[in-house]
Amino acid sequence: MDLHAHTTASDGSLSPAELVHLAVSCGLGALGVTDHDTLAGLPEALESASGCGIELVPGVELSVEYPGHFHLLGYLFDPAYAPLDDRLRYLRDHRASRNVRMLEKIQECGLPITLEDVRAEAGGEVLGRPHMAKALVRKGIVDSVKEAFNRYLADGRPCHVPKAKLTPEEGIALIRAAGGVPVMAHPFTLKMDPEKLEAELCRLKECGLGGIECYYSQHSPDQQNLFLGIARRLDLVATGGSDFHGDTKPHVHLGVVTGGGPASLELLDRLKAERR
Ligand code: AMP
Ligand code: FE
Ligand code: FE
Ligand code: ZN
Repeated sequence: MDLHAHTTASDGSLSPAELVHLAVSCGLGALGVTDHDTLAGLPEALESASGCGIELVPGVELSVEYPGHFHLLGYLFDPAYAPLDDRLRYLRDHRASRNVRMLEKIQECGLPITLEDVRAEAGGEVLGRPHMAKALVRKGIVDSVKEAFNRYLADGRPCHVPKAKLTPEEGIALIRAAGGVPVMAHPFTLKMDPEKLEAELCRLKECGLGGIECYYSQHSPDQQNLFLGIARRLDLVATGGSDFHGDTKPHVHLGVVTGGGPASLELLDRLKAERR
């Protein structure tokens, strides 16, 4: 299975239907659709998966307020739970005004990119830095998405504006209130030493955290083992996914995590058992 993938509803390059068909052709038994700040890709994904022998796991990915780079995945929630939709709408509204401010900075840097150019790179309502990067590539201003981030868009670079974020505690409580399971995404991006990370995860588990993404496309075997050890000691569910974005992140392949293959489908049963 692969429990972490993006569609055109956020910053992936495949539509929900195309993503599901790719997952089926890869032989995956389950697929998690985890777009940033939106559930808009889920109805098409669920519809496309029905009758295809693949289980579609509804998900979402939130950036949460933290000294490091902390993304929170939510799984198996009720998509109709109104407070979840409200908070996601708040995040999307802030994202929209942040996009305008980033575009102003981009133009101040003398780069001729408009909001329309950025919108043309997206398939849905959620626009972000990857779409700005693609627009810069299309205009021939940079050679790659990576170069666009390194020169202009990454945190601390001249065109960056921070996003509005929930606190980890609020994000966790929100996913739980919606009947879902909150999971820390790609823990290596927190860049925390192992003891400190474990202490922090222990605290977050008290707040309702249910899992930790141990199997991930960019985890080394050592990182994977470290996170699996923490998951075992704290009784957190280990999950796994690639963070596939299609040609937005061409080096990441659907169904491929540390070691080269997909994550085990058995982990999904443990994730389901974590619902309250
Ligand atoms: P945003 O939500 O608009 O801040 O954009 C964040 C997204 O940009 C992440 O989820 C990744 O998909 C992508 N991203 C972040 N940093 C980089 C980078 N250095 N190179 C390429 N893509 C990146
Ligand atoms: Fe992304
Ligand atoms: Fe992420
Ligand atoms: Zn992701």
